[in-house]
Amino acid sequence: MNDTISDHTSATRSVSLLGLGDMGAAFARAWLAAGYSVTVWNRTASRADALVAEGATRAVSAADAVAANTLVVTCLLDDASVGEALESTDLTGKDLVDITTGTPTQARARATWAQARGARFLSGGIMAVPPMVGQPEAGGYVFYSGSSELFEARHEALAVPVGTRFVGTDAGHAALLDVALLSAMYGTFAGITHAFALVRDEDGIELKEFTPLLAGWLAAMLGAGLQMSGQPDSGDDTSDGGSSLAMQVAGIKTFVGTARDQGVSPELLTPYFDLMRRQLDSRHGTEGAKDLVDLLRSGSATVGRADG
Ligand code: NDP
Repeated sequence: MNDTISDHTSATRSVSLLGLGDMGAAFARAWLAAGYSVTVWNRTASRADALVAEGATRAVSAADAVAANTLVVTCLLDDASVGEALESTDLTGKDLVDITTGTPTQARARATWAQARGARFLSGGIMAVPPMVGQPEAGGYVFYSGSSELFEARHEALAVPVGTRFVGTDAGHAALLDVALLSAMYGTFAGITHAFALVRDEDGIELKEFTPLLAGWLAAMLGAGLQMSGQPDSGDDTSDGGSSLAMQVAGIKTFVGTARDQGVSPELLTPYFDLMRRQLDSRHGTEGAKDLVDLLRSGSATVGRADG
């Protein structure tokens, strides 16, 4: 073990961080800026050079990094890399906080794995991009779930890089909420991508004028989307906001036809259209968008129908 590293079993202003990619490095810098003692390890050692110059302590191995502090944070590419990095480390008595993105199942398995090795475990889902880290006004945060004792004990340190939201003792729930929010983001990105593909090369349409129109429309429709998808306290499970599913399905040919006319693939929209048609064809329920959620959950909407 590197002799510059000492054990801080009772200290709260020290942390070991494994993983110095874009996100890990941003977390390290936030802790350094707040005066924390930060021990860092990265598989490619040279990636730690800049942080060491800024005051971090380099650990020559993952085992050394884990040994250096009680609070150990992993910010690696995926769950497999976490398993690989921690394989030969001694986690006895450690507070392991894994902010690597993964599935709920991976998080629960990692919790069991860590507990079997004598560690308390918290899983994190990061709702931020690196430039938001260390910038409280940017609104970034991390969902945490798992050991409430660990969260209580380490909250002050965890709250330094970005905000924190503890979402329960099921270690999988941070990952589930993370992926749910990101899934909605990607769906929105898909729609935005399609919209720009429709208009970008059209003579007489200026993107700088189109962009605020799109932003305004998305903001105006957000509430309707949340309500139609059946939020439990909306008070009306059947509301379609005055836009019946039958009307919307009748309009699909217009969307697909416009895409075709503009030389744009409708591939980003057709899965959602398929689901709407399937619900209408089934003639079940109330024809509300909440039923689309039920259809997805039943797993019965997997057959595509992408033609217009
Ligand atoms: P990067 O690709 O920049 O860094 C990946 C890190 O994982 C590097 O430190 C890399 O080491 C390490 N790594 C990969 N494979 C292994 C392995 N087998 N063993 C040990 N180390 C390994 O990713 P980010 O820092 O951007 O992301 C880290 C985590 O944060 C990811 O889970 C990501 O999903 C999540 N996240 C990132 C966001 C972002 O905008 N960047 C936003 C929200 C979450 P090496 O340098 O040696 O390759």
